[in-house]
Formats: sequence, C-alpha cells, structure tokens
Amino acid sequence: MRILVIEDDEAIASALVAGLTREGFSPARAASAADALKALPADFILLDLGLPDRDGTELFRNLREASSAPIIMVTARGSEEERIAGLDLGADDYVVKPFGLRELVARINAVLRRTNSAEGEHRVQRLDTITIDRRTRTVAVDGVEIACTPKEYGILECLARDPGAVVSRQDLLDTVWGPNWFGSTKMIDVHVASLRRKLNSPELIETHRGIGFRLVVA
Ligand code: CA
Repeated sequence: MRILVIEDDEAIASALVAGLTREGFSPARAASAADALKALPADFILLDLGLPDRDGTELFRNLREASSAPIIMVTARGSEEERIAGLDLGADDYVVKPFGLRELVARINAVLRRTNSAEGEHRVQRLDTITIDRRTRTVAVDGVEIACTPKEYGILECLARDPGAVVSRQDLLDTVWGPNWFGSTKMIDVHVASLRRKLNSPELIETHRGIGFRLVVA
C-alpha cells in the first residue's frame, strides 16, 4: 500500500519512511505542497500541516479534491484549532508531534478498518431516488449528482449501511467525525438539515428524538 508522507522536516520524514517500510507499507515522500500534489495517486496520505509553501488546511482541500485516499493529519503540539479545522474538513484522524511509529501504525490500521467496512461489497447503492457511490464518495438524486460536503456524505453513507435502522448520534460521531472528536452531538442536526434539503426529500431521514436518525426507504 502506497503511503504518501508529506513532511518538510528531513529527519522526521526519513525516520517515517524507514519505519513504515519496516511495517510493510510502501511510503513515498513529498517535502512540499507542490511535490505532494505531483506525487499522487496514493492509497493513504500522511499530511504535516506545517509546510513551507502552502497553508496546511488549503493543501488538505487540494488533496481531497484530487484523491479519495484517507488522510491522517500531523500537527504540532498545542495547535488545537488546526486539528479541529482539519477534522471538520474531513480528515480521517490526526497525530500530534512528537509521536511514535507504533501509535501511527495503529491509527493507520484503524482508519483502514473504518474505510474498508464502510466500503464493503456494495460500492454503489441505490435507495429510492438516491444513489450512493462509495468509490467516488458521491451522491445522486434521480441520477443527478448533488454537492455533498464530506460530513453530509459520511452521515448519509453511514445511515445507508443499514437502511431502516436507527443509528445513534454517538455512532454517527464515531463513524463520521472519528473517535478523536469530543464535540457536541448537536452539530449533527445542522448537517442532517442541510442534507435533507439537498436530497430534496425531508422525510427520508427521520429524527428519533434523544436517540439518533434513521433512513426511511420504501
Ligand atoms: Ca513541518
């Protein structure tokens, strides 16, 4: 599996490349944002947010547009705002410098388990008027693709794994925001409201007060 290591610090980057190789991955290294975009495609991306040539969150957006590979952000100690911004943009997880290889590999494997179980066998799923394509992380209504944010896509994809079942807010948070998110579950409602508008069918996602949400399909 090709892991793109985006890191400008030579010492950290070479230690990561050596360590990930020992663990059986095939790391490729990029020392700048420009190199990173040229080094795609990758199966997994490790992104240091502190790069010399571009704001880390901006590069994050560029990578997400160009690649569907999971992204783990690497942040400096104390940059809580950066981490929250990154997770809200849709990063799959983060590690804080300094971190050990063992911790990193555990996080990579956890992200891979989450993404693989999310993708499953049925990569294109049709529910009433809605089509969810897990290969491209896109949603279409009556065959027309709609513009979902990563969070909206994640919520819909999670509910669609078991149509008709009530999914708790905590499960949605764990799946869509990741286990490192310690925010209020209230914000889910904002994303669900926006998703309902985009799906053009307010009754499709049912709210179960105090519990969670359910996808209602005929
Ligand atoms: Ca750096």
